[in-house]
Amino acid sequence: MALNEWQRRIARAEELGGQYTFAAEILSFYGAIAHFQEKFYGDLAKSREGVGPRASEPEPFLRPLPPELTRQFESFLSVVEQSGPSPLRVAARELQAGSNDSHLRLLTMFWNGGETRSLPPGSDDFFARAFLQPYAVSLREQANLRWSGPTPFVCPFCRRKPGLGVLRPLGDGGQRSLVCSFCLAEWEFRRIVCPGCGEENHAKLPVYTADELKHVRVECCDSCRTYIKTVDMTKSGLAEPIVDEMASIPLDLWAQKQGYAKLQLNLMQL
Ligand SMILES: [Zn+2]
Ligand SMILES: [Zn+2]
Repeated sequence: MALNEWQRRIARAEELGGQYTFAAEILSFYGAIAHFQEKFYGDLAKSREGVGPRASEPEPFLRPLPPELTRQFESFLSVVEQSGPSPLRVAARELQAGSNDSHLRLLTMFWNGGETRSLPPGSDDFFARAFLQPYAVSLREQANLRWSGPTPFVCPFCRRKPGLGVLRPLGDGGQRSLVCSFCLAEWEFRRIVCPGCGEENHAKLPVYTADELKHVRVECCDSCRTYIKTVDMTKSGLAEPIVDEMASIPLDLWAQKQGYAKLQLNLMQL
């Protein structure tokens, strides 16, 4: 039976966790989260069976969060409490002591954040982003959203920044797209443009790779001093972009040492 997208990510996280000792811990925790996300996504899919696409509601990401999501949030907190790194375990325990109302407030703050008002990096951002991700994916699919138009710098659906790039085989080269850091939408993006500031001068957009991780590119911009990592599927067809981005931690350390800031931290806050 073919694996669904969550299962493919879980399998890839196990595989890379065995190969890259520097990423083993992060990937094992990510695997636990992705298990939760897969189940949550499945529950959401079941609850919408028989309901057709709601094309009449063009802005699903502007609707308020249903309060009943907080029930699932409690299960998510247990997962983090069992499998997370110790600062997140402590944070999960503190949140477990909170009320449903306080949980809904935390989730809503992130949900309403969009591009400009997202929470600062930290545990609240982690909990809301990781928990709500399957809901955002489900909503995007349910609304059957399609994008056509100029290539946007933020997700055309939920208005979040891209978390990574992907190069997919096309003719002799690769077609570049960006992947939303939240709802995981993927949209085409011109190859020689900085997704941070729009810089188009080739000389200001250096690309770095390392021998040990040949299929992950660090795409920097010398104008806004940001970087984004792009997973090159023309070099590794087996990559699962989100997981491979997460696993290539040494590239983040290297880029940050050169003075570049990551355009958008990933789910693991790296
Ligand atoms: Zn999005
Ligand atoms: Zn830039």
